[in-house]
Amino acid sequence: MMKNNLGIYIHIPFCNKKCDYCDFVSYCTGDEVKARYVDDLLLEVSRYRDLVEKANISTLYFGGGTPSALPPVLLTRLLEGLPPQFFQAEEITFEMNPESVTEEKLCILHDAGINRISLGVQSLCDRTLKILGRAHKVNDVYTAVDKIRTAGFHNLNLDLIYAISEEHPVEDSILLLAEMEPEHVSTYPLEIYSHLPLSEKISLVEDEFFLKEFSNIERVLGNKGYYRYEVSNFSKPGFESKHNVAYWKRVDYLGLGVSAHSLLGSCRHSNVDDLLLYHEALKQGNCPVMKEVMLTKEDEAFEMLMLGLRLTEGVDLFTYHAKYGEFTDAQKRAIERFSRQGFFERSEGRLALTPMGMNMMNTVLVELME
Ligand code: SF4
Repeated sequence: MMKNNLGIYIHIPFCNKKCDYCDFVSYCTGDEVKARYVDDLLLEVSRYRDLVEKANISTLYFGGGTPSALPPVLLTRLLEGLPPQFFQAEEITFEMNPESVTEEKLCILHDAGINRISLGVQSLCDRTLKILGRAHKVNDVYTAVDKIRTAGFHNLNLDLIYAISEEHPVEDSILLLAEMEPEHVSTYPLEIYSHLPLSEKISLVEDEFFLKEFSNIERVLGNKGYYRYEVSNFSKPGFESKHNVAYWKRVDYLGLGVSAHSLLGSCRHSNVDDLLLYHEALKQGNCPVMKEVMLTKEDEAFEMLMLGLRLTEGVDLFTYHAKYGEFTDAQKRAIERFSRQGFFERSEGRLALTPMGMNMMNTVLVELME
């Protein structure tokens, strides 16, 4: 019997230092708490033995937080404790931050079968890294990339933040980053939350500056042979993130760890987002799931549009119509109008946003949802 594809996401909620803009679930804590968490994670994994055995594990992703904040001994304990099927995945990504990349950890990862590293560079300007409250400096990035390549990793993603402020333009960073020739670049506009320290230092940029920053990124990466395959992701051909593409195509995935999210069939669920609650739930033999939502056909149809339109290849309309029927009259009118305005292009049974349409994505989605 043909097995269904399943992506696995493992959340490691630890960081060496909390960045000034960070709103993720992450803790700066000692090795004792980290060790307990690794044991809890392995316990949670064991609860899904049946699901894992029945599936084809297509991708495995260790995200955070900072997975590389685990010390070597815990890294080994985690990797050795996971089911062997996890390591049959075609793409296995491990997120690292420059300050915690070491030869020893890279060797453990490589030996375990990890074949893709995602490095949180964020900027190649020390002044900008400082205002963001990052734990590393520019030199740490170069050292880390050197070590990653030397350790034998041929699929490297570098993360970059843009639209920080007029005093911290992305232009120099993107040029320097492209010169390092990663296979993949993920870009993120800075989000500023009023309860976080960065909001006291800078304020949200104007739309015009935001668009200028992104067009600089697109131009530099385009000149270097990268293509934009998703709203904010670029890669050399063949190096798109398989894990994330599957997510945008609504392939099932199982999220493990504190605050991890899952999509299993028509059910989305998320785990508790508190380390202690996560530990207590597992200790008492309970499931750490905090929230479970059963999606209706309408929810699924909208998700397929909302996520699929993030990809430059767009949405496969044959699949869409086969699963969810025709568009509503309001959707048809919106698609017609946005097509006339140059936001959509339709060809060979696909509906895709043009580059101009991608910049208007939220407006487009609001109308498609009505
Ligand atoms: S490294 Fe990432 S997860 Fe950790 S504090 Fe910084 S932004 Fe948050």
